[in-house]
Amino acid sequence: MNIHEYQARELFAKFGVATQPGSVAFTPAEAEKIADQFKEKIVVKAQIHAGGRGKGTFTNGFQGGVHLCDSPAEVKELAEKMLGQVLVTHQTGPEGKEVGKIFVGEAVDIEREMYFAILLDRATSAPIVIASTEGGVDIETVAEKTPEKIVRIGVNPCLGLMPYQIRQIGALLGLSGPLLKQASKLFSALYKLFIDCDCSMVEINPLVVTGKGELLALDAKFGFDDNALYRQPEILAMRDKTEEDPREVAASDFALNYIGLDGDIACLVNGAGLAMATMDIIQYAGGRPANFLDVGGGATKEQVTAAFRIILSDKNVKGILVNIFGGIMDCNIIATGIVEAARETALSLPLVVRLEGNNVEAGKKTLAESGLTLITGENILDAAQKVVAEVKKAA
Ligand code: ADP
Ligand code: MG
Repeated sequence: MNIHEYQARELFAKFGVATQPGSVAFTPAEAEKIADQFKEKIVVKAQIHAGGRGKGTFTNGFQGGVHLCDSPAEVKELAEKMLGQVLVTHQTGPEGKEVGKIFVGEAVDIEREMYFAILLDRATSAPIVIASTEGGVDIETVAEKTPEKIVRIGVNPCLGLMPYQIRQIGALLGLSGPLLKQASKLFSALYKLFIDCDCSMVEINPLVVTGKGELLALDAKFGFDDNALYRQPEILAMRDKTEEDPREVAASDFALNYIGLDGDIACLVNGAGLAMATMDIIQYAGGRPANFLDVGGGATKEQVTAAFRIILSDKNVKGILVNIFGGIMDCNIIATGIVEAARETALSLPLVVRLEGNNVEAGKKTLAESGLTLITGENILDAAQKVVAEVKKAA
């Protein structure tokens, strides 16, 4: 799960991570009111779950999702141009994201922009700090063109981020004296936040040194471990479903493991491993999967019906492959769910089904007696080839 920058700032306040003051506005009038409290320049930032806002473009042609203003009146005018518009950045995809809220804060006089992130390193199963003197720019570009400018420091989760590591990072970022002291406080606070809130990622780009000699986090991108959300009610309350793929929101409501992709062959599978193998084999047979979907080992008829509804809500889908190997899963529950969902949605797309395992005979009987036109796959490869052929034929 991700959160907005303004929500991340609420966590900053709670954990003592230094940043500049400001708050969120949903209307131009609110934006103007917030801006009133700032004496100098004001920053206005579109709040969407994507980075690269500064260099983004609105679909109406207006440039930039991050702006500096001189007066509250100018902030209001800008808010009118941004709110309700769709912003496209290199992280949103070409469809962009609608801006429903903006952050209005105090602009700071930036002397130097750096990069600081804490991630979960899957190779070591431990947190890792990534820092660079090259902040404010796309870190992927830095990694590609000047990899030597990025440092990685692994953290032992039992010990936490140690003072010597903080000094090491500080030195690499060229921070000394009072700035190193501030860095020590900021990095420790951020590490505590990362652990306490079950984050999978905390990215500060840019971390800045101001003209007044302050070290501040000016941007914040957070990711959280979905499996830990049950013990993070405060974080879960920050979820903004309008920022998520509606198919994935519907799937999570039914506890289905679904990830939307951009192909045209939907698949419904039990077990994550088999679901991945099914996507591979669709690709191998010359097709492109429209999703990853694991209904789990003990799916109910309601979950299977919901899964079908989600699959069919995707307008790109031109064919469906059901691949079930019933171990714990009862094939007849899948079959009943398919029949119900197909009736409910007046299914007209080609449907290939491969059922095997627990209670398969009853499942096949349910399908055969349903009157549905479906194609039977003898095995996983045969099923994939058949669905690909059907989709190609229809095109
Ligand atoms: P994004 O990464 O989505 O483009 P950022 O919050 O990083 O958004 O903002 C982009 C750039 O705007 C920053 O790199 C920084 O140069 C500038 N900026 C952001 N916040 C402020 C601020 N409070 N004062 C001055 N400049 C800012
Ligand atoms: Mg940024």
